[in-house]
Amino acid sequence: PNSKADDGKPRLLLMGQRRSGKSSISSVVFHKLPPSETLYIETTTRIKKESMHSFMDFQVWDLPGHLDYFDPAFDVDNIFEEIGALIWVIDAQDEYLDAIMRLNMTILNLQQSYPNINVEVFVHKVDGLSEDYKSDTFRDIIQRVQDELSDNGYENAPVSFYQTSIYDHSIFEAFSKVIQKLIPQLPTLEALLNSLCSTCQIEKAYLFDIMSKIYIATDTSPTDIGSYEICSDYIDVVIDVSEIYGWDRPVENGNSEIAETGNNDAESLITMERKGNNYLYLREINKYLALICLMGDDSPAEKKAVIDYNVGVFQAALKQVFPRAEREGPPTVTEE
Ligand code: GDP
Repeated sequence: PNSKADDGKPRLLLMGQRRSGKSSISSVVFHKLPPSETLYIETTTRIKKESMHSFMDFQVWDLPGHLDYFDPAFDVDNIFEEIGALIWVIDAQDEYLDAIMRLNMTILNLQQSYPNINVEVFVHKVDGLSEDYKSDTFRDIIQRVQDELSDNGYENAPVSFYQTSIYDHSIFEAFSKVIQKLIPQLPTLEALLNSLCSTCQIEKAYLFDIMSKIYIATDTSPTDIGSYEICSDYIDVVIDVSEIYGWDRPVENGNSEIAETGNNDAESLITMERKGNNYLYLREINKYLALICLMGDDSPAEKKAVIDYNVGVFQAALKQVFPRAEREGPPTVTEE
């Protein structure tokens, strides 16, 4: 059995009916599987816990029709006690009334025992829907959940809704919002990023979880999905995640040790490059996090020394904020 969470990582549980898209989401976000290949993956069976080289931790739970997980015989406390958010995946391309009924039941149960768990509803697979149908469905789902909540006197339950798809960046954007709610240090991070941006004339700065490409914080200037995309693509160009983290690689020929030590922060990667009309700056902050900054054309590369210096200051400040991210064991995947 897993010991209780004490490493300060945000913990997520992904839940929803069979075929709603849970395995696909976790494969695309946390294992870099191309979305089209999710057609061939095995659907989630029962409970899958993963601990990975990521700033966060998550588990995937399948919900077979017959399983009543609030049954006293089922040890839910073990699970719910340690999570910060429950992500509930609903297939928007399918009949969803049954899914909503189960979701409502779950929220009502959680409100009694774990009212602080955020319930994050992913109205998923919206890529296949027309604009009209998509927004009608979204509104209908929200309405059905809110009606049930207010009928039961829970108007203020922490429930949020997102439209997601693995075929675009929406799934990453949704995860980013979910994670940011679980980071108590978020205001500090935003203030640090704001100050970095104004000192160095940076347009947009993201603190990325390298493994998943979820951003855990950004400066408070308006975010547009375009800059997220540019920065997130840059991670792929600069960092070969599988090399650094030995991720998804069978442990063979004694190679894993090299992978484990390849990213000690003393030699963190720093790079700056021109990309179209922009400059991109990347620096690995610790084992899990990288800072990526987007700058306009008027920021010549000569300024790099100033940026290096200020990012160094930022990095030192961040070490105080996340002292635990500096040390961590190897990744494990277990299934129960
Ligand atoms: P699970 O049983 O909840 O783990 O569901 P799976 O991950 O096995 O997904 C079931 C099917 O939904 C697969 O064929 C996926 O390719 C498909 N799927 C998952 N996410 C999306 C999405 O965002 N859009 C579309 N169109 N299909 C998706």
